[in-house]
Amino acid sequence: MNAPKKFASQADLEEKKVSFTQLSDHAWAYTAEGDPNTGIVIGDDCVLVADTQATPAMAQDVVRRIREVTDKPIKYVVLTHYHAVRVLGASGFDPQQIIASQDTYDLIVERGEQDKASEIGRFPRLFRDVETVPPGLTWPTTVFSGKLTLWLGKLEVQLLQLGRGHTKGDTVVWLPQDRVLLSGDLVEFDATPYAGDAYFRDWPQTLDNVAALKPVALVPGRGPALIGEEQVAAGLRGTRDFIADVRRSVEAGVGAGKDLNAVYKDTFAALKPKYGHWVIFDHCMPFDVTRCYDEATKYVDPRIWTAERDVEMWKTLEG
Ligand SMILES: [Zn+2]
Repeated sequence: MNAPKKFASQADLEEKKVSFTQLSDHAWAYTAEGDPNTGIVIGDDCVLVADTQATPAMAQDVVRRIREVTDKPIKYVVLTHYHAVRVLGASGFDPQQIIASQDTYDLIVERGEQDKASEIGRFPRLFRDVETVPPGLTWPTTVFSGKLTLWLGKLEVQLLQLGRGHTKGDTVVWLPQDRVLLSGDLVEFDATPYAGDAYFRDWPQTLDNVAALKPVALVPGRGPALIGEEQVAAGLRGTRDFIADVRRSVEAGVGAGKDLNAVYKDTFAALKPKYGHWVIFDHCMPFDVTRCYDEATKYVDPRIWTAERDVEMWKTLEG
């Protein structure tokens, strides 16, 4: 008999290699073999950073890379969504403004504390030097609904809510001049989409809205930067297919009257051959299937994950 799987990413302790890739005149991608990415926009007079890494100590490595290419001040930090692994490094950039959608702000109010405890438990390696995170939560200083345009000198940067997907508050960063998009976890590449707080029914349409912008380069939430229309299309297609495949399998199980445990086992087996090689597949599947089952039965909105609920769910499905 196989040993039970270690909870979430607790068995994942191997450091990843960082790449810092220039995508256009103004956009750079800080990526690390499937670990959470940070997108960087360098304007005429300042720098914008989208998603922060999990701790201020880890943010310092992003700052070091930025300083290799510019000495302009880091004025803006954009939170593409509320997840702790994306936001808790914000203070490491010492920005003038931290910007998020109103929906993301509301989620931080509602579930930020629980999410912080839950994510630190899930990803010990991704919270390196967690003691450098200041007490409390990362609070946006500017919030918007729908669309906010920033001018970094002559460079236009649009923050857009194109619909719900990975979370209710998903925001993308769009450079119309360069046609580069920083997607946050709305798009993943060679990495399993985490959908524990997702809206499965909305996500595909939101990806269509991303595609309609016709980006020529895209920084996904995880995985390498996508350069050229073909790679961008592959990233969008992979994410869309995964979400659709989870939903199809879960809804078939619910329709047949199966319980969550049975639906989980069926869905894991159905998706493993196609997606099992993507990073964090084993980590994500129990959360993704649980949320999809919830949405297909009686929970319109994602339930709050707590450190306790995480472990309980894992024991039930993987025990
Ligand atoms: Zn996320």
